[in-house]
Amino acid sequence: MHADSPSASTLPLLAPDEPAAFEVIEDRRRSPFLITCDHAGKRLPRALGTLGLPETELSRHIAWDLGAAQVARLLADELGAFAILQTYSRLVIDCNRPLDAPTSIPVISEHTVIPGNHELSPTQKAERARLIFQPYHDRIVSEFERRARDTQPSVLIAVHSFTPTFKGVPRPWHAGMLYNRDVRLGRALGELLRREPELVVGDNEPYSVSDLSDYGVVVYGERRGIPHVEIEIRQDLLADEAGQIAWAKRLARLLPEACAGLAL
Ligand SMILES: [Zn+2]
Repeated sequence: MHADSPSASTLPLLAPDEPAAFEVIEDRRRSPFLITCDHAGKRLPRALGTLGLPETELSRHIAWDLGAAQVARLLADELGAFAILQTYSRLVIDCNRPLDAPTSIPVISEHTVIPGNHELSPTQKAERARLIFQPYHDRIVSEFERRARDTQPSVLIAVHSFTPTFKGVPRPWHAGMLYNRDVRLGRALGELLRREPELVVGDNEPYSVSDLSDYGVVVYGERRGIPHVEIEIRQDLLADEAGQIAWAKRLARLLPEACAGLAL
């Protein structure tokens, strides 16, 4: 590199012409549902280049949740609900991890080492949090606060997708319901989905929720006492528009029924 050319560390993380950290679909029907999609996008800030990875890595599940953004948008449309989608890749900073989690800015994901995330200074880490994690979560907090002022009930739906094969092991579930301390909605939705005989529905599979591996369900669902579920859908089922529409319609049909027993 030429001595006076800017290095990655001296460029601002986001240039003025780069997209905002999140996209919002507004609540059109005072729906209780508040949909988050933490891993919607795979964009990298230009200042980070490719994080030292080839395009094949930047397009696969380690970078984002394939198909999840489309399901979140379609579901918001079906329900007339608020949705918020993160624009930037989870490889920049994971918006479903506490900032002090070791995997907040991953140095390895599945078997892939992320060169651009090694040996970051505290300033570099703080900038990713300030410009990408924080605005996204600030917007979610402001939506919850508006609803509290307007006495509009809330139900948190965190939309994710998972890879059909992880570290060489195939996964049998079509979808998984994830929850931890508050079992209400996760169990109710799981039971409704299992009535569809063609579906294999995981109960806290392929992942489970914990304070270190999750953020939205813990901070907004559990700590605010808001009913919630983290929905994981297998990515091969969301590979085309037909699959995305089918899952959005299925969830839009079952979520109100799953909430019927909740005092909202
Ligand atoms: Zn995810």
